[in-house]
Amino acid sequence: MPFSSLGLIPELTHALAERGYTQPTPIQSRVVPEILAGRDILAGAQTGTGKTAGFTLPILQLLHLRPRAGKAPRALVLVPTRELAAQVSESVRSYGKNLQLRTAVLFGGVSINPQIEALKHGVDILVATPGRLLDHAQQGSVDLSRVQIFVLDEADRMLDMGFIADIRRVIKLLPQQRQNLMFSATYSQDIRRLAQSLLHDPVQIDVAPRNTAVQTVEQRIFRVPKDQKRALLSHLIHEGGWQQVLVFTRTKHGANRLARQLAEDGIETAAIHGNKSQSARTQALAAFKQAKVRALVATEVASRGLDIKELPHVVNYELPNVPEDYVHRIGRTGRAGASGEAISLVSPEEEDLLKDIERLLRKPIPESALPRFAPARPQPKSHDGPGKDHRKDAHVSGARSPRERGAPARAHERAQRDSHTKESSPRQPRARDATPRSHATPKRSRRNRRYRAR
Ligand code: AMP
Repeated sequence: MPFSSLGLIPELTHALAERGYTQPTPIQSRVVPEILAGRDILAGAQTGTGKTAGFTLPILQLLHLRPRAGKAPRALVLVPTRELAAQVSESVRSYGKNLQLRTAVLFGGVSINPQIEALKHGVDILVATPGRLLDHAQQGSVDLSRVQIFVLDEADRMLDMGFIADIRRVIKLLPQQRQNLMFSATYSQDIRRLAQSLLHDPVQIDVAPRNTAVQTVEQRIFRVPKDQKRALLSHLIHEGGWQQVLVFTRTKHGANRLARQLAEDGIETAAIHGNKSQSARTQALAAFKQAKVRALVATEVASRGLDIKELPHVVNYELPNVPEDYVHRIGRTGRAGASGEAISLVSPEEEDLLKDIERLLRKPIPESALPRFAPARPQPKSHDGPGKDHRKDAHVSGARSPRERGAPARAHERAQRDSHTKESSPRQPRARDATPRSHATPKRSRRNRRYRAR
């Protein structure tokens, strides 16, 4: 089925053809005509399904065909993370290259002034994270009263990150009369409640069965003791000749440490997490996309929404506490029909987490026999510095001096502030724009309560 059969205008179909897209994905076939018809949407679609184009294309078309009055944004796309904001706005620009529509992106961690300038020039489609958007609203640099189409992207993640109060604040700034599009990979009670309060007579569209992992991803586990995970991972990367692998750790500290260790094993590696500056995160991601580094070690939150084309390997170095995060994580591979492999390294302590994930997937994840690999020698304990990788934000290079290898931790590196800070879900206050405004303690997940109670 060609894109034109969805009712899209040639300016858009040409831009799609230039990107090499010949067929709409299932979510696009379903949502594009409904959005063009002005309906509210509740879409159960994971990242990797092509949902961004699914809402971006019809929004571009609707705004192109409607006369512009004033400079205030006519569409608002609210997303949970800076990376996703950057990616969505990049999609808007790319798909809309043949149209005279203006896009701006607002997120924290960068200077607010260029954003104010962009808003002054006039914006049709605004992509924003909640914190920075509310900063602008507070100081009067953005007027949301002209928004005709409101998109809440990755709504489940927004709630996980404690953004519900911010979302409600943003909604209050929007006009009553508007079209609402809500996308969520999973449905919880909270999501349903939010959908009920936000959407008017929505069309509900689910493209993948709920809470199931992307079908094209081959999943398997290795049962391996915790202290052998690094040796196994290095072995898999070397022996498999993997050129691009995204590795998930649970903590920022763990991400830094593993990135260093892989570098020691001769694997060019970068780390991406909430303590890295925005420019370091962008730089690390760019290096990974351009295959300048082979491994990107990421925490759950930092990785959310990363769009890396046809990523062949995702490794869960540690299983996530929240089973839904497993689905999000492995959604980094097998994107838009490409096949991919998701490997989880499961230590004995993680068996309960594995059970929860398998319950969610409604099937066991096949186990592979451990390959022969050189077991790790005991390492001297080392800790990262307080909130800063001591290698600064530079990419970790593959080679380190022998003195650096296994060098005893310096006293200041033992500082406790950051070490063992959980960054994965559930719900950590994060960098500026991602920090919920609500002073209430973010609600803990059932899983976490259960673990703390033990
Ligand atoms: P998303 O789920 O929106 O993050 O998109 C996942 C990936 O699929 C992105 O790299 C898109 O550029 C790509 N994509 C979106 N639509 C199509 C399509 N119709 N054909 C091929 N790739 C697509």
